Amino acid sequence: MHSAADPCAQPQLMHPDQAIPTLLAQVNVIEGTEVVQLSHALNRVLAEDLASCIDLPPFNNSAMDGYAFNLADLAEDKPLRLIGQSFAGHPYHGECSANTCIRIMTGAPLPQGYDTVQMQEKVRVDGDDIYIEAPQQVGENVRKRGEELTSGAKVLSKGTQIGAAEMGVLATIGASQFLVYRQLKVAFFSTGDELRPVGSELAQGQIYDSNRYSIQGLVSKANVEWIDMGVIADDPEAIRQAFRNAAAKADMVITSGGVSVGDADYTKQILEEEGQINFWKLAIKPGKPFAMGHIGKAVFCGLPGNPVSSMVTFYKLVLPLIQKMQGLPVTQPLLVTATLTDSIRKHPGRVEYQRGVLSRDQQGQLHVATTGSQGSGMLTSMSVANCFIILEQMQGNTDAGTMVTVEPFNSVLC
Ligand code: AMP
Ligand code: MG
Repeated sequence: MHSAADPCAQPQLMHPDQAIPTLLAQVNVIEGTEVVQLSHALNRVLAEDLASCIDLPPFNNSAMDGYAFNLADLAEDKPLRLIGQSFAGHPYHGECSANTCIRIMTGAPLPQGYDTVQMQEKVRVDGDDIYIEAPQQVGENVRKRGEELTSGAKVLSKGTQIGAAEMGVLATIGASQFLVYRQLKVAFFSTGDELRPVGSELAQGQIYDSNRYSIQGLVSKANVEWIDMGVIADDPEAIRQAFRNAAAKADMVITSGGVSVGDADYTKQILEEEGQINFWKLAIKPGKPFAMGHIGKAVFCGLPGNPVSSMVTFYKLVLPLIQKMQGLPVTQPLLVTATLTDSIRKHPGRVEYQRGVLSRDQQGQLHVATTGSQGSGMLTSMSVANCFIILEQMQGNTDAGTMVTVEPFNSVLC
């Protein structure tokens, strides 16, 4: 059920669609490139356009295991005489006289004198007499030199992230090393007197610092060089020092905690003294408070402390900044629609990213269930979930059976 009414809208909150471009305008691609060897290039971002120095394929070759010949020779309806063979890596160097053929294997060079290949299943062999079922046209089953790429053509553009396919493409054109952006350095720390590192005992009122580990996971997947700066107590001087250290070491500093209303004022005050920071109130749930700006030369992102909020704000607000700084295009999530299987209570006012489990039934229809309680401190909901259920800002309670927008984790459009 959609509610167009506006009883709970919070006009002072900024919609994420408006906030993201504003945040992106405040960061630039990092300066600095380095030469990387192909075997170490996975996930790196190209800092140059790459052209091929060779034709692809580099020579005419067979797409099939079969026989190579001139199609015109089949007109007489007589067998062709077998005069040799061309295997991958072992070309045929002899003459290609009239009414002859050679055995040829997939990937083997097609001799200059022949124009066509027939697959072996359509050939009858009688000693050296080869009876070939005529293919439809000249050039059948031949992969022509340069049909994929000609020498000098651009193969990969600056800003391309090197994945498995690109690793292979680069090898295909013989590129053993090339220019990539240096890796983005991201330092992060948690703030809060209640936080204890894993491996220690918890006293009354203490909890384990989980954000540092989820942030480590998030930034690792974003292929940055990360620096874990630990937990910083709610102490003004310790926090000031931590901001300075982190900003001196990294291109981006991410903290969690200390940016929500009610936190000791000094965090905000110190940030304002140390850098140029905006404190955002965003119309997203979870994750309303978010700080972003610069400390020294470093970009600063202050995530809310609640564990789900920190992950959601990372995905929605920090990841686009990282992508831009890395020289990458900012990815768009792939959105699908699915039938909601349980009802959701929601107040109009904020875009909600509820944690959901998306599944496909036997008819191929998509269904999505919430993971249950959606408290922003319940991190297990992120682990159980495989998607966000996105409920628009003015949407209210939503009944089971409604079609809803779903963002599967790890799926992007570009
Ligand atoms: P804060 O944003 O500092 O007001 O924290 C909001 C809530 O998140 C509080 O319940 C904190 O205890 C909790 N929290 C803050 N930082 C972390 C962290 N690193 N790991 C787990 N919980 C945290
Ligand atoms: Mg705190």
